[in-house]
Amino acid sequence: MTSRGDVKKWSVAIHGGAGVIPRSLPAARRDACLAALDRVLRSGSESLKEGASALDVVESLAVQLENEPSFNAGHGAVFTRDGTHELEAAIMDGSDGRCGAVSRLTTVRNPIRLARRVLEETPHVMLTGSGAEAFADATDLERVDNAFFDTEIRRHEFELAKRDPELAVQEGSTIGVVAMDMCGQFAAATSTGGMTAKWPGRVGDSPLIGSGTYADAHGAISCTGQGEVFIQNVVAHEISAMHRHGGVPLSEAAQVVLDLLPAGSGGLILVDANGPHAFINTAGMYRGLADSGGRHETAIWTDEVQS
Ligand code: ASP
Repeated sequence: MTSRGDVKKWSVAIHGGAGVIPRSLPAARRDACLAALDRVLRSGSESLKEGASALDVVESLAVQLENEPSFNAGHGAVFTRDGTHELEAAIMDGSDGRCGAVSRLTTVRNPIRLARRVLEETPHVMLTGSGAEAFADATDLERVDNAFFDTEIRRHEFELAKRDPELAVQEGSTIGVVAMDMCGQFAAATSTGGMTAKWPGRVGDSPLIGSGTYADAHGAISCTGQGEVFIQNVVAHEISAMHRHGGVPLSEAAQVVLDLLPAGSGGLILVDANGPHAFINTAGMYRGLADSGGRHETAIWTDEVQS
């Protein structure tokens, strides 16, 4: 446990996915995404100010983002190539390394809540498919029909992808939250529907501890982008290992690791003792950063001056 005594600093970062976000994004959609990010970021800042734990904050903010239909997590998740939804999520407590992850969920309204239950209530790290659904049956978590996750935009993206995989785009993607609480403890959460027209059974980086999600005593990381690339490079853990074993500041390590990935493969958010950071090698990433020093910014495109 890393308690920094009376230092009352906190920070939080959220993302709603990285990728090819066209500048021609309709203003109404852009504004809706920015408003959602702003709302969720404010809620996290309030909770952290009141002394909430990083773990509770990342779960609560991830639930809020899952409930936003603009993002590819919970309601608004993308379609598999069978026309269904398979959701996945992970949560990690950096103070003690405990983590929980779920994959191939089809009826759990808020996958991140089930990931937290895996962390709290099982001796395991990850549950998948029918086993995860059976575990959910034994909880009071809200269940829905798979069609609950449908949205018009995702169906349109799915139809385009079926016609020509080159046309596959995802506007608004995976969600992630990282936070440092006033005790100096870190946590990370990531939740997603995966990639449009993915093979049923495909597992991405988001629920894989160390690939898309990681937290330890020094920081917390949540990634977004082409899951296969993030898995191959074990991105989140690679960054944290460069810091722990090599003494490289986490934010420098993040830039080094991201620069090694193919351009256009994704981005990540990170919090360390110095505050929140965002790194992107795509055209954009829906994101928001806030801290106890008064920072509060939301942005979409990579070259954007954050407001
Ligand atoms: N990384 C996610 C996945 O591959 C997708 C995303 O971040 O948009 O499942």
